[in-house]
Amino acid sequence: VAKQQGRNRFNYFAPFMQEATRVRMNLVTELREAMLRDQLRIMYQPIIDLSNGAIVKAEALVRWQHPTRGLLNPAEFIGVAESSGMIFGIGDWVFRQAAREVQKLQALSSPTFQISVNKSAWQFRDDGSNYQEWLNFLQELQLSPNSIVIEVTESLLLETANNNSDRVLAFQHAHMQLSLDDFGSGHCSVAFLKRFSIDYIKIDPAFVHQGTDGMLICEAIIAMAHKLGIKVIAEGIETQQQLTALTAAGCDLGQGYLFSRPISAEELEKQLQKQCSPVNKVLDIHRTTC
Ligand code: C2E
Ligand code: MG
Ligand code: MG
Ligand code: MG
Repeated sequence: VAKQQGRNRFNYFAPFMQEATRVRMNLVTELREAMLRDQLRIMYQPIIDLSNGAIVKAEALVRWQHPTRGLLNPAEFIGVAESSGMIFGIGDWVFRQAAREVQKLQALSSPTFQISVNKSAWQFRDDGSNYQEWLNFLQELQLSPNSIVIEVTESLLLETANNNSDRVLAFQHAHMQLSLDDFGSGHCSVAFLKRFSIDYIKIDPAFVHQGTDGMLICEAIIAMAHKLGIKVIAEGIETQQQLTALTAAGCDLGQGYLFSRPISAEELEKQLQKQCSPVNKVLDIHRTTC
């Protein structure tokens, strides 16, 4: 009887599992082709200095221009990229594109302009922590290492604290800055912020969207971060009300649809050109950032 039940269970689950595996295998094949055929894109989302409204940084966000399904968000392919190991190649490509772009953007605006790139836990596994190659690449482009900010998550820090913390710490010694993404959504202890010498905290958008209670948490995070000498970026700012509250709380930087959705490199270059045009300089807008 048990055997029969077991078999029934197997029959019940098998088609679903086979289908999921098939879909995943297809995606892996397609993604491999996507890299060969140049189908990956990067969108840049401006990060704004809340004290003067100037664009001072941007986050690189990967997209896949799929031949039949249109422009895909990372949620649709990063998971498969990670589990198949393709995230190393993709991450490397994103980094190099971002480095070339930040070189242009610094020339257009200021040598302190930064681009941040996301790095997932998988990219720190095995020998995926290619920070030395990345630093060499920045040097080739004559860029200072802190032209690029690496965004990591709390869970990555937790994992790293247990096994390969030296790799994350290596960034710190190399002066590539670290940003802690989606802060407040994970289980990061405050001690980690100091231990890993975090430069920026990005407040999880959930708190920004939560109303009064969420804003209290934002205020607490900002106060704590400032005590530790860490700058704060609020993510997912969508309304003027959220912006006003965050500015009042002393938040340093902001990112969100209220300012801009992720845009192409060309569009970002245009925006910076406009921001740094003589007219705006005369009007005293963004004088310090150009
Ligand atoms: P993230 O690093 O937290 O990036 C912020 C996400 O929030 C982006 O989604 C962005 O488009 C979205 N966003 C920005 N402003 C707003 C807003 O005002 N409202 C709302 N509702 N959303 C906003 P996206 O581009 O779909 O990226 C999702 C995640 O994929 C990223 O989250 C990041 O974890 C991952 N990712 C993106 N690019 C890369 C990459 O090159 N490498 C790796 N490893 N992960 C990446
Ligand atoms: Mg991010
Ligand atoms: Mg640092
Ligand atoms: Mg985030």
